[in-house]
Amino acid sequence: MKKETICIHGGYSPESGEPRVLPIVQSTTYQYRDPDYLADIFDLKATGHMYTRISNPTVEAFEEKVSLLEGGVGALAVSSGQSATLISLLNICSNGQHVITASSLYGGTVTLLSTTFKKLGIEVSFVDQTLEIEELLKYARPSTRAVFAETISNPGTEVVDIRKMSELAKRIDVPLIIDNTISTPYLCSPLEHGANIVVHSASKYLDGHAISLGGIIVDGGNFNWNNGKFPELTEPDPSYHGTKYVETFKEQAYIVKARMQLLRDMGNNLSPFNAFLTNLGMETLALRMERHSENALALAQFLESHPKVDWVSYPGLESHRDHELAKQYLPLGASGLLTFGVKGGREEAGEFIRNIDLVSLVVHLGDVRTSVLHPATTTHRQLTDEELRAAGIGPEMIRVSVGIEDIGDIIEDFKKALGE
Ligand SMILES: *Cc1c(COP(=O)(O)O)cnc(C)c1O
Repeated sequence: MKKETICIHGGYSPESGEPRVLPIVQSTTYQYRDPDYLADIFDLKATGHMYTRISNPTVEAFEEKVSLLEGGVGALAVSSGQSATLISLLNICSNGQHVITASSLYGGTVTLLSTTFKKLGIEVSFVDQTLEIEELLKYARPSTRAVFAETISNPGTEVVDIRKMSELAKRIDVPLIIDNTISTPYLCSPLEHGANIVVHSASKYLDGHAISLGGIIVDGGNFNWNNGKFPELTEPDPSYHGTKYVETFKEQAYIVKARMQLLRDMGNNLSPFNAFLTNLGMETLALRMERHSENALALAQFLESHPKVDWVSYPGLESHRDHELAKQYLPLGASGLLTFGVKGGREEAGEFIRNIDLVSLVVHLGDVRTSVLHPATTTHRQLTDEELRAAGIGPEMIRVSVGIEDIGDIIEDFKKALGE
């Protein structure tokens, strides 16, 4: 099946007389007639659901759909994108170990890695993703356990060279984890370019309607854990009566361990209702991503020629530093995220926000509605202009999530808000 078809049919194929549309299994619990069968589920000898914290049929269908779209061997849905990043790393890193991450990242990921991971005793090096491989290798340590980056960074709009990062990870013999939230599996398949694990905030384009939080981790099944660095995957797990994940689950070892160990213990599962809503949103993912990308490019071109606009950053524009990488990794479109600078600065950007009408000011991105955010007066308002510039977020910067409305109506609203 092609991606357009997987979006609609992937993950759920009903038997005769069963509901045509994925049902919500709103049950915490499952019933068994034979105690031996339940015992086999607990022993991981039989597949089946035991408790919704671990798995649920509606959630499972969503997991299967995203796994098929990404070309993985299995997926684990969780309560948010933050949970996905957290579990994807904790599954293979612990106290005393180290992670290399590209520094152009979502703000929540930055604080998770720089603050909470530090408390857990995991050190993180934030690196410039444009560096050559030999420079990047200088950050590697014997304790390094993963390399992390975002396909298109939020809000940086930088496109990462996935093949280069994959080469870096291979040279260190650790997996490459890619946050594919902004590009979605429709526009980019990181596993095909050498990534080993993909994570998403499903709250953005997968849901697509700003209605439910969720996250997902996809296992590429393409990393050899048997290299001495990952005893938790190769040696017996005492918390699961001695299961050896790699020996028993082969290429699915990573994702089975994430579910049976971390989801069991931490409990950040996705609710069946949110899985239902996200699955429904995903049925139109292919159509929406085409329109998000088309509209974003048209708006970026309009803004680039506007006298009151200082600069525009959108990977689909030829003027963008990473335009060549966008052509390589995002041939179908560069998604709906762009940033631009209003001439003048903080005051003028604030004035623009006050004047928008159709477009809304929200702390979110990736849904059907066009929305904007002014980091200097909202998410980053505690920073001075100098600090903002140092963080690559000037006081004049507006982040736009371009929706799928008529592009003429979107441009009209921007025109009015910029004062022609
Ligand atoms: C929003 C976002 C996250 C976090 O997702 P939540 O679902 O809000 O927890 C992670 N990565 C990227 C790139 C995001 O845009």
